[in-house]
Amino acid sequence: MTLGFEVLARDGKARRGRLVTAHGVVETPVFMPVGTAATVKAMTPEGVAATGARLVLGNTYHLMLRPGAERIAALGGLHRFMNWSYAILTDSGGFQVMSLAKLRKIGEEGVTFRSHLDGSAHLLTPERSIEIQRLLGADVTMALDECTPYPSPREAVEASMELSMRWAERSRRSFVERPGHGIFGIVQGGVHPDLRLRSVARLIGIGFDGYAVGGLAIGEGQAATFAVLDATVPALPPDQPRYLMGVGKPADLVGAVMRGVDMFDCVLPTRSGRTAQAFTRHGVLNLRNAGHADNPAPLDAECRCPACTGYSRAYLHHLCRSGEILGAMLLTAHNLRYYADLMAEMRQAIEKGGLADFAAAFAEAQARPQQESGEWVEDQR
Ligand SMILES: [Zn+2]
Repeated sequence: MTLGFEVLARDGKARRGRLVTAHGVVETPVFMPVGTAATVKAMTPEGVAATGARLVLGNTYHLMLRPGAERIAALGGLHRFMNWSYAILTDSGGFQVMSLAKLRKIGEEGVTFRSHLDGSAHLLTPERSIEIQRLLGADVTMALDECTPYPSPREAVEASMELSMRWAERSRRSFVERPGHGIFGIVQGGVHPDLRLRSVARLIGIGFDGYAVGGLAIGEGQAATFAVLDATVPALPPDQPRYLMGVGKPADLVGAVMRGVDMFDCVLPTRSGRTAQAFTRHGVLNLRNAGHADNPAPLDAECRCPACTGYSRAYLHHLCRSGEILGAMLLTAHNLRYYADLMAEMRQAIEKGGLADFAAAFAEAQARPQQESGEWVEDQR
């Protein structure tokens, strides 16, 4: 047995599902906090779990360079190393090799590059990427792909997608089957529906435990992202999980769930938490704004996170203006809780057949003018 996945309910194209891994059950649709360097930045593992998260993402590129996959394996694997007992999905390293490494050169064999940390030379092949993810002990392994830059000429997108499909086949062949563990293929093909569908057919021919849609949220815009999903998702196997990589803003998640996506990851809630941005049901608040300086109200009176249950906007504003670490910790905890709650609300809505109504109410609340002063909040709630 590999990964288990069951669709429990459907509402339009949206699905309410359950992913069963070696490290527990994950309710879908799900948002995965990003734990780049074996840590979700500014959070303890206990704090991450308290947001409701049962699946986090680890980054192969960062961990292979520091502290090294073999070292983590010798120390008992990534779960033990970072003290996270729930499920972990690792990316293949491909995306960050393209975005962070120096002097990278892509060939049929793989990618040669120099580390952005110390300039050391490395070769990342599909076989090595899968081996690293096995050493880390990932519950969900991702096939190595090439992330095509956007925009690129169609011929370049096509050649890149074909290379990714050959790498997908090598990735699948290198994967060692273990109970509760699985490997996902990644659909490429840029914004071209025919290339996306060819990529889907190739991946289904190889046979994966789940399917990711990659190469999006890199500047093409929400309408183009949704158009790719409209063309791609219906062609994916109906009984297997679907993962939209690197997306996104709350409105992106709602739109993608409505299009049949089950899994997401993005640095947005954690990165924003370190830059004084808070996601709320009425849009994004900037806690640096002077309008919060005298406001005793919480960020969101309905939120059960540590930031909202114990602290005022005035205090959070003070922490952010003072560059205090606690400000980043509290806002990250709030943002991850906001994302987790949003996904939980969507799961409930799908179960009740009310996702369209939920999405309309969500869009209406987000569109309400955001006032930074805060006094209005008590009046309008
Ligand atoms: Zn909160």
